Amino acid sequence: MFYVSHYRNLSQMNFDTSTEQDEFISRVNNVCRNLRESEERAYLEEKFDDKLVPEFGKIGMLGCPISTKYGGLGYDILTYILALERIGEESSSMRTFFSAHTSIGQMVLQSWANEEQKKNHLSRTTDGRSVMGFALTEPEAGSDPSLMVSNYEDKGDHYVLSGKKHWIGNGTIANIITTYARDKVTGKISAFIVDMNSPGIHAVEMKHKLGLLTVKNAEISFYECKIPKENLLAMPGWGLSIAYSALIDGRLSVAAGSIGVMRDCLTETVRHSKERKQHGSLLGKKQLIQHHISKIAVAVESSRWLTYRAASARQKLHDYVENMKIDDMDWQSKLNRKNLDYSMLRSEADRLATIAKFHASNAAFDAANRSVQIFGSYAYQKTARVARHFLDSRATTIYEGANEVLELKISADIFGEGFRSY
Ligand SMILES: Cc1cc2nc3c(=O)[nH]c(=O)nc-3n(C[C@H](O)[C@H](O)[C@H](O)COP(=O)(O)OP(=O)(O)OC[C@H]3O[C@@H](n4cnc5c(N)ncnc54)[C@H](O)[C@@H]3O)c2cc1C
Repeated sequence: MFYVSHYRNLSQMNFDTSTEQDEFISRVNNVCRNLRESEERAYLEEKFDDKLVPEFGKIGMLGCPISTKYGGLGYDILTYILALERIGEESSSMRTFFSAHTSIGQMVLQSWANEEQKKNHLSRTTDGRSVMGFALTEPEAGSDPSLMVSNYEDKGDHYVLSGKKHWIGNGTIANIITTYARDKVTGKISAFIVDMNSPGIHAVEMKHKLGLLTVKNAEISFYECKIPKENLLAMPGWGLSIAYSALIDGRLSVAAGSIGVMRDCLTETVRHSKERKQHGSLLGKKQLIQHHISKIAVAVESSRWLTYRAASARQKLHDYVENMKIDDMDWQSKLNRKNLDYSMLRSEADRLATIAKFHASNAAFDAANRSVQIFGSYAYQKTARVARHFLDSRATTIYEGANEVLELKISADIFGEGFRSY
């Protein structure tokens, strides 16, 4: 029964993309192609590609799923996911910029900020005036953010925030981030919008990374940083719920990007296998090479449908919350565990995004590994696209929830809360 009810909309599933989606993806494709050279140079020099924000800004990609009211394109989640898939095909580093800026950046504001906060902060992010980031992880609180020690004090007309976050994507280039800290008195965790130019904030780039070399990750320290009262997101004590909801979008981004990685691995390996001859025939004619290729092809298709279905569940959650905002001024207080419709839509979106991320990220790293093997020594330099996919996709099984923890989360959903083992 459980599974029948989850598939009740199957007859309405449509696997065709619309003309509008095709046109937008074609614009994304053009920008990716134009940026290929500069992105590759930036990767080898381990720099952020300065052309990325202006070029993607021209086609509206800096606010793709954000409402037109705040300068975005107002596109649906699936269109955004298809765009991330294409960007991930180009480069996971580039796609990770959008994860931090949009998926776990802007979408947190879109979902949780009040009207005034959206006008003041969100509108600046869709045209590139502000870059966003999401600062949750701490040195002693990774897979378990509830262990965080960053704290805040309510000083009446403002808050004072202290603590340290690390690995924060876009950390040294972000103008606005959301961050999460514990009330010194009550111990509850709250979420804040933070202007990175505020006094008392110090962001230091994390160096010597394994991959994702054009993404700027930072350690961010808050030294008694003054946060205006109006920068609290939603309600005091809602921090973890907000952070976990952001991770649904973060996981969808990783899943979509992973499909792109595998698609590019296929393009590259098929081309190489049709050109390279050893032992008297092309690599593509060797059965063991064909085995690698078919493994990648199957992984692309399986990851696609898990991800698109998860995107559709996320869209339903989005639509529900947006409708509530129209009908009810006090919508934030309605989004709690007692609201059964919201809880069900959210847990379904969460469950499917978790499964999609787990599957697609494992598959992408495996595909990149197989691709390096097919290229042999020709992929043992960062100048080779498959070498960069190999290095970059390693992070996808760690960030937005490490895959071991996601695996436990998937089974806890089946067994029930009492069996939660993480
Ligand atoms: C490239 C990159 C970008 C990132 N970007 C951001 C960002 O923008 N914002 C942000 O806030 N954070 C970011 N992170 C941090 C990321 O979310 C964390 O690295 C991740 O949550 C894992 O935490 P950890 O690294 O502390 O590992 P740990 O939590 O120490 O886990 C280490 C290992 O133990 C496993 N493990 C943990 N608990 C259990 C358990 N109960 N049972 C079994 N196994 C377990 C994990 O799966 C993992 O394999 C980024 C990380 C990386 C590498």
